[in-house]
Amino acid sequence: VAKQAHSGYAIYDDGDTGASRENLALIADLRRGIEDDELVLHYQPKANLATGRTAGVEALVRWDHSERGFLYPDAFIALAENTGLIRELTLHVLDRALAQTRAWMDAGLDLHMAVNVSTRNLLDLTLPDQVEALLETHGVPADRLELEITETTIMADPPRAKAVLARLSQLGLSLAVDDFGTGYTSLGWLRDLPVTTLKIDKSFVMPLATSDGDAKIVRSIVQLGSSLGLQVVAEGVEDQASWDILRDLGCDLAQGYHLSKPQPVERLEAFLRTTDST
Ligand code: C2E
Ligand code: CA
Ligand code: CA
Ligand code: CA
Repeated sequence: VAKQAHSGYAIYDDGDTGASRENLALIADLRRGIEDDELVLHYQPKANLATGRTAGVEALVRWDHSERGFLYPDAFIALAENTGLIRELTLHVLDRALAQTRAWMDAGLDLHMAVNVSTRNLLDLTLPDQVEALLETHGVPADRLELEITETTIMADPPRAKAVLARLSQLGLSLAVDDFGTGYTSLGWLRDLPVTTLKIDKSFVMPLATSDGDAKIVRSIVQLGSSLGLQVVAEGVEDQASWDILRDLGCDLAQGYHLSKPQPVERLEAFLRTTDST
């Protein structure tokens, strides 16, 4: 927080690089938290806009910390990315999410599972083999799994990202571009990469019903996605008016507080029962 202006180095860092004492403590603790199974997954449903049925869920990690209380990803994901712990974290999340997917399959529920992966994960050439092994361990077909990546991630090292994505795509899983529309790059890479899904960033979707400019952007992304043969998902759908607009635009899936917040598994299962969605 406090930087020492003239000493040539900072005692405290700005909180993003993982160098402050507080952050170092949290990082040491995250390793333990993963081992002690303190990470919990909440699941947020995505509905098919044409049928209203739940098509799948996104797994969102939380840390139920023994002393610090319930922590949201903003408090620890960036730290994990900067220290390399993101590898353990992502594999742990994938393992838990696939175990849940298998349990739902056994209960006759036909749900897609989406998991977020960070830049470091996508640039890790061993990721595809690890994903393949976890799918096998849990007996989950690859086409049940979607990995959500961001444009920033792809741009960090395009040739390497391309190689990893190609291998992941060969496994048969879906690849979604998360936060779509917030990057500053050209769209050429979309043509060259095996992505299956665009997720329109919530900053465009939340104001959709009241902002003409955002509505135009959302419409353009839906059109772009359909013309490229991609599935289009809107995240951050908070009201019925936005829901209706997205359905009329032909957007495929909707995710957001209007349907459900991310929820612990029991509550998500109760939601599925009341909506009679699968
Ligand atoms: P994201 O992947 O873009 O996830 C969407 C975020 O928007 C989630 O925040 C979700 O709770 C929130 N959200 C969903 N619907 C609405 C809505 O209608 N309105 C608004 N205002 N917000 C909505 P959350 O769970 O705090 O996650 C924040 C970010 O942390 C995620 O953004 C993702 O980048 C990262 N993250 C979460 N779980 C994981 C994980 O397991 N691994 C990695 N690498 N990153 C994760
Ligand atoms: Ca996501
Ligand atoms: Ca899919
Ligand atoms: Ca997003």
